[in-house]
Amino acid sequence: MQTPVPDYLQHVLQACQSNAQGAVADYIPELAHADHERLALALCTIDSTLYSTGDDQLAFTIQSMSKPFAYALALETHGLNSVLSKVGVEPSGEAFNQISLGQDNLPKNPMINSGAITTHSLLPYKKTVSRAEHLRRFLSTLAGRELQFDERVYESELKTAFRNRSIGYMLRTVGVLDEDPESIVDGYIRQCAIQVTVQDLARMAGVLANGGLCAGTGQRLLERAVVRQVLSVMMSCGMYDAAGDWLTTVGIPAKSGVAGGIIGVLPGQVGIAVFSPKLDEHGNSVRGVHIFERLSKDMGLHLMEGTPSAQTILQSRYTVGKNNDVVVYELRGVLQFTESEMLLRSLQDEPTGTNRIILDLTNLTLVHDVGARMLFEGVKRLKADGHQVVVIDSERLLSDTQSKGHKRSIVHTPLDVYLERFASVK
Ligand code: GLU
Repeated sequence: MQTPVPDYLQHVLQACQSNAQGAVADYIPELAHADHERLALALCTIDSTLYSTGDDQLAFTIQSMSKPFAYALALETHGLNSVLSKVGVEPSGEAFNQISLGQDNLPKNPMINSGAITTHSLLPYKKTVSRAEHLRRFLSTLAGRELQFDERVYESELKTAFRNRSIGYMLRTVGVLDEDPESIVDGYIRQCAIQVTVQDLARMAGVLANGGLCAGTGQRLLERAVVRQVLSVMMSCGMYDAAGDWLTTVGIPAKSGVAGGIIGVLPGQVGIAVFSPKLDEHGNSVRGVHIFERLSKDMGLHLMEGTPSAQTILQSRYTVGKNNDVVVYELRGVLQFTESEMLLRSLQDEPTGTNRIILDLTNLTLVHDVGARMLFEGVKRLKADGHQVVVIDSERLLSDTQSKGHKRSIVHTPLDVYLERFASVK
């Protein structure tokens, strides 16, 4: 059998193809040459499976879709408080290139140009490696291939970047930038000229969807807290001045760029990327918005839909051992507050006694800190009731911090081996 997902994506693409509204961005002269008909869609699951259709090999410039990733790199480099002292997180409700600041004289958020130019100044750099080059390398790691700068688009934007220069000088005047604004704006324009395909973008978005972990390599590329910050800002500020409309109709944290791309990230599920050059009055790809609306509706991807995961935490409960005195709880899914509450409610029904209770975490995909805290509080209380409690963490899901102080209750042996070893139990 072949999975129907690629057919579905193709179907969505075809359904949106006839939408010929909008106009290509021409304030960057090179972008005006884009072929209007181009259309592409890619989707990357959190376990790194990539589906794509249409012009999925076509490279275009990342433009403003670089902003969330530059923000992530700045956060990784300087920490949240330091970045917040330079750029706010409030939706501006203004055009992306508005020459304005918030009341505190800081750019309102990192998704509009004033905030993005400031964020660019916070990227790491060395004498031999520019900020834009650092970002290019970081995006290449996220995309899993070496990305290039589009020199023509860069040169073209540089020649006409009067507005961004004005923003740079404004930022220098109020002290948000403490360097030559010309070189920071130059670097920012270079950052926007990194070439990507929808496949690259979907992979990059997939890493964000997976909480910063690249499933393909198992490497952590971004801290979970950084990803949360970036997605929150994308949700409230990512779609230019149409953010409220987007939140209600699509409900997926996203960022668009003037070359015609849009990336969307559904935490814990998928990264999505679309491309089509004609833009609406807000600067968002017309067909791109159409495709996202369609995917969100068809696939129930709206963030506010909620998830039924709490129904599934307890995979099974059974007893083993000579006297059926060993109780095994096999868990599955994600252990967050709701699931832990449900688990603790089941454990509450265990009669007081000296039974051995085994909590098997093998089939969990993620244990949140609150989940770990609640789990071990349950373990403590079961022990206080006289039980012996063993937590099987053969997949080593628990972090050092989560397991700190509970090491004596945790074993890393798989459940069947553990039961085998305690032959009396089998
Ligand atoms: N380089 C573009 C600019 O700064 C990016 C704008 C965008 O994609 O929204 O004007």
